[in-house]
Amino acid sequence: MSSPNQSARRFTATTLGTARIGPHRECKRAVEGYWADRVTAAGLDTVAADLRRRSWEELTAAGLDSIPVNTFSYYDHMLDTAVMLDALPPRVAAIEDPLDRYFAAARGTADIVPLEMTKWFDTNYHYLVPEISSETTFTLHPDKVLAEVAQAHGTGIAARPVVIGPITFLALAKAVGDGPAPITRIDDLVPLYAELLDRLADAGVEWVQFDEPALVTDVVGGLPDLAGSVYARLSGVTRRPAILVATYFGDPGDSLAALARTAVEGIAVDFVEGAVETVVAIPELSEKLVVAGVVDGRNIWRTDLDRALATLGTLLGSAGDLAVSTSCSTLHVPYSLAEEDLLDPNLRGWLAFASEKFGEVATLSRALRLGREAETEAFDACRAALAMRGTDNRLRDNAVRDRLAAISDADVTRGDAAIRITEQNLRLGLPALPTTTIGSYPQTAAIRKARAALRSRAIDRDEYLRRMRTEIADVVALQEKIGLDVLVHGEPERNDMVQYFAEQLDGFFATDNGWVQSYGTRCVRPPILFGDVSRRAPMTVDWITYAQSLTDKPVKGMLTGPVTILAWSFVRDDQPVSESASQIALAIRDETVDLERTGVGIIQVDEPALRELLPLRDADKQAYLDWAVRAFRLATSGIADTTQVHTHLCYSEFGEVIGAIAALDADVTSIEAARSHMEVLDDLNAAGFANGVGPGVYDIHSPRVPDAGEIERLLSSALDAVDVQRLWVNPDCGLKTRDTEEVVASLTNMVAAARTVRASL
Ligand code: GLN
Ligand code: ZN
Repeated sequence: MSSPNQSARRFTATTLGTARIGPHRECKRAVEGYWADRVTAAGLDTVAADLRRRSWEELTAAGLDSIPVNTFSYYDHMLDTAVMLDALPPRVAAIEDPLDRYFAAARGTADIVPLEMTKWFDTNYHYLVPEISSETTFTLHPDKVLAEVAQAHGTGIAARPVVIGPITFLALAKAVGDGPAPITRIDDLVPLYAELLDRLADAGVEWVQFDEPALVTDVVGGLPDLAGSVYARLSGVTRRPAILVATYFGDPGDSLAALARTAVEGIAVDFVEGAVETVVAIPELSEKLVVAGVVDGRNIWRTDLDRALATLGTLLGSAGDLAVSTSCSTLHVPYSLAEEDLLDPNLRGWLAFASEKFGEVATLSRALRLGREAETEAFDACRAALAMRGTDNRLRDNAVRDRLAAISDADVTRGDAAIRITEQNLRLGLPALPTTTIGSYPQTAAIRKARAALRSRAIDRDEYLRRMRTEIADVVALQEKIGLDVLVHGEPERNDMVQYFAEQLDGFFATDNGWVQSYGTRCVRPPILFGDVSRRAPMTVDWITYAQSLTDKPVKGMLTGPVTILAWSFVRDDQPVSESASQIALAIRDETVDLERTGVGIIQVDEPALRELLPLRDADKQAYLDWAVRAFRLATSGIADTTQVHTHLCYSEFGEVIGAIAALDADVTSIEAARSHMEVLDDLNAAGFANGVGPGVYDIHSPRVPDAGEIERLLSSALDAVDVQRLWVNPDCGLKTRDTEEVVASLTNMVAAARTVRASL
């Protein structure tokens, strides 16, 4: 097959993209400074340009010979692509300044609702969902990518611009108004991408990367055909750079053969997720550059260089040329191990953050070309570290494994739900339509100050505990005053609902500076799950019993569920995640038993991430849901039927997980519903769910205070769907991001509404 760019220089080592928050979160600070009017647009631009330059220099110094650019972003790369295609929603169009318009779409303003945010495939990164209506007219505005290319060329680097491909852009967008599915607009985008190719050729670009991770999913039907036709057209453009289509996060399956039959010059494939057999079976790849993602771009483990080199060896005969790469952008891992001063030296040897991964890519690329002998030192060091990992006794805890081996179905099953509820009602003596909250109360300035003071050793542990108790006492008093029926302790002592538990469990460790972008300027520091998990001591009992000692109303114990702890951590790669989930579940189960023993009558186990880990391919979904449900039930079935189990889920579009939510068999499930008008109740009923349910009656993500009348109306419509004995009254999520004044006003109205509806029964 002839292609205009068969002469494009084939590179040997690269990464599909890099993080952009800055090694010390410089970009986050600059952007937030811009929002607060402390940093000018020019100042922001300087910080950004400097971060990009440093990142490119680092990649070049590491030995990569093709450098991704345009992976920088002030907020999100999907939003950047929407800007490039002129697909921002009309409600921001009146904002003159492009940067302010961009941020308005991202975060909203006093009167503009932002774009919705959702998870980027099965990672913990969230992208902004472009809204496509029948009025959307796409036009090309490649200013950002061209500017980054110009900056890169100015510094003399081998820049390879990265742009989200048209299929993935549309597959991840949502239709608004009565517009059809965005993917039906693909023919509008192809000419614009063709125009982009022409502009990039003008700019002297040799290779362009189009990211098409949607091709490893089943989000829309007919993807292989679509991939074939779209890239046949784009690769048919006569004046263009060489095209690299990047697939990642899974096996592209039939889409790979379809791409291979087009005239694109290169295809990136994620070999951490398998896919070797898929590649070997496609003869057309023998003319392509295959960019082999053998270094895991989204987890933090050191690459087994011998194994990766063996994989590359297997691929050698199937590809025209092979380049070594990370499997995906390193957006998903921290910058560098160099920042981790306090790390256990053994553990350090097992890890590779982004910097270390770039080194691994370069090493593998040289070893592939020159033989392993050229990299003896690196291979020896790797073997030694992995051997150490293999024998570290923290990896295996036989007591945990023996306990798990002995678990039977009876251990994950509680008594009949209807009987349970009757017994619990007798014990708890709650009114109809009980009112409660999801767990956290505002993280006040005093809480943050105390935490900072503890970290800087300005106060000791005892003083910190005293201050947290004061917070708890205040929150309990506040809830009594408002008149809530089931109280919480408010979670002041928790920096984060996962980290708090990870810090107290064996098998996890925390990083000092392991920040990764969650969305926009928000960064998280996921704990690293490295060994078998067990609980050293009770983790929450003192706090809950203290709160309970202050009131006659029931106080809910508050725990994070095994799936969520797993989803928001870096997980070990040496055993199935389902096994890790069971181990965490056992630790949580121990905690529920201890809480019950001290007299706690209601225990909430949050699983906001249940849907997040759902596999990308339909065929894999049920197996996941089975183990996820089992882990939750293992965590919550160790207590008596008279103890009430609550759970909380953070979304209202249950879709594919609805059956699993019912199968959790929690006595009470609180869910988001305020924005979806209680439709979730019908969905739950349809799934056969008959236990208690607390559809959120107001949206805590907004500062707006709901009035009692609107909550009454929501409750009345909820009562059309569920029996009064099943209905709970609560906001739709935790209150930690709100301020106290809003919380008091909103909850007061919520309690008033519940009382009015109760009186009318
Ligand atoms: N209990 C947690 C809280 O209230 C639940 C948070 C969540 O749903 N993400 O903050
Ligand atoms: Zn929530």
